[in-house]
Amino acid sequence: MEPWDVTIVGGGVLGTSVAYWLANRYEGRIAVLEKEVDVAAHTSRRNTGVVHRPFYLDPVGRKVFARCAQIAYGMWKEYAASRGLPWLPVSTFEVATREADVGRLEKYLQWGLANGMGEDELALLSEGEVRRQEPQVRSHGAIWSKTDTAVDYRSFTQSLSDDAVAAGAKFLLGNDVASVDVAGDRLDIHLADRGGYRIFNDPRRKILVLVGRGNEPHRTRFLINCAGGNSIDLAHRLGVGREYTDLFFRGEYWEIDPAYHHLASRNIYTVPRHPELPFLDPHWIVRADGRREIGPNAVPVAGPYTYRGFFEDPKDLATRLLGFPLRNKLRLLVNPDFVTLAAEEWASSISKGVMAKRAQEFLPALRVKYLIRPGTAGVRASVVDRGGNFVKEAIELPGPRSYHITNYNSPGATGAPAYAAWIVQRLARAGHLDHLKPKTAKAAGSWDFEKICAAIETPAS
Ligand SMILES: Cc1cc2nc3c(=O)[nH]c(=O)nc-3n(C[C@H](O)[C@H](O)[C@H](O)COP(=O)(O)OP(=O)(O)OC[C@H]3O[C@@H](n4cnc5c(N)ncnc54)[C@H](O)[C@@H]3O)c2cc1C
Repeated sequence: MEPWDVTIVGGGVLGTSVAYWLANRYEGRIAVLEKEVDVAAHTSRRNTGVVHRPFYLDPVGRKVFARCAQIAYGMWKEYAASRGLPWLPVSTFEVATREADVGRLEKYLQWGLANGMGEDELALLSEGEVRRQEPQVRSHGAIWSKTDTAVDYRSFTQSLSDDAVAAGAKFLLGNDVASVDVAGDRLDIHLADRGGYRIFNDPRRKILVLVGRGNEPHRTRFLINCAGGNSIDLAHRLGVGREYTDLFFRGEYWEIDPAYHHLASRNIYTVPRHPELPFLDPHWIVRADGRREIGPNAVPVAGPYTYRGFFEDPKDLATRLLGFPLRNKLRLLVNPDFVTLAAEEWASSISKGVMAKRAQEFLPALRVKYLIRPGTAGVRASVVDRGGNFVKEAIELPGPRSYHITNYNSPGATGAPAYAAWIVQRLARAGHLDHLKPKTAKAAGSWDFEKICAAIETPAS
């Protein structure tokens, strides 16, 4: 069988967005290999569901995330309206729970404006102003991000996958990539169960139907690795990114009894104590369907799909902590802040009371009994460099007949359609898409590829 022209591994919001742009811009055989039986089965559904406005992102240190979040806000807003998907502009108060954090709020105001937010979208609030609007919230002041919005990224991703299929991409679901070999001018991708493609049959969705092909490998001329929590492992298999390793942190949520939803009507975040570490204090979240939750914490776990417990087998944790490359992790394990915070996060996982106590810091009226059931946990895969530091931006790594995107963390769901356009442009500029024939017609819908890419490249004001 003819090789595929481009294969994307991973049908999360990122891989699906890349497929959307490729299929809309090029003729050719474009496939998404996804190990689950639908898109957005992992982090792209198991998240806080906020379209984050970029006031808290350093316009220099986190430029790409900040630019993409700013551009994609308008894209998602328009997309939600055109497809009838949830869009609830609840807004966010990011509060200073310590006097010393008030200066940080002022910095956030400058960052938000530098990242392109409008003056009317942000306001600094005194303690009294916070209390007038959210009487139960205690703080030393806040920044109010008025356009933060609650959405459902799973429905966004599903809808985008339908659009990608309509433009010609094929989603080959239920295919777990086990290994990849370079074979001359193409790659041979071996699937875990060797069962070939499965059929996904949902009459409401247009998504893929392909028939199994036995034990033959899936052949492709180019691979784009968007495998989320598995992306580093997949890159390592092609000899790429061996200077990096990753660690996994599960974010857990608790649903609040509806009788206490009135405690706050907006998202309430707090200024993080250690912005360089992936530990955020749990927030009060308003979901797109009106539910309120507390979370997420950031509990170190053994793998990208450890949604319960800490590891399936103690060996898994040892392998994860002591596996290759070891030096990155050893450097981190001697960082006292990391070790202390990790212990606190474990405590909040084991005890609901500890979780409630963390939220009481800004919402003292909250009681443990208001946390009625666990919400849907998600796992963040954070990449650690040779110095033992968590990397702040997404990492893009070229490899043999392949391109690897890893460390694509929050606010990755917010920025995905913009970031994916930029990735497609980078691949085209590097000649990796020369074997595809450009489409002459403009992409369906009103997202403008050239404008989006130019806006990402524009220096911050
Ligand atoms: C707790 C938490 C809260 C968050 N909240 C927000 C938020 O409010 N707003 C925001 O913007 N961002 C948020 N994020 C970040 C955001 O969810 C991620 O940046 C985004 O979902 C990443 O998308 P992805 O497509 O890269 O990864 P994923 O959604 O994980 O997709 C990767 C896909 O690859 C597939 N895959 C993996 N290995 C293989 C293989 N071997 N073969 C085939 N398929 C494979 C997986 O099944 C998966 O579907 C949050 C993240 C977490 C963890």
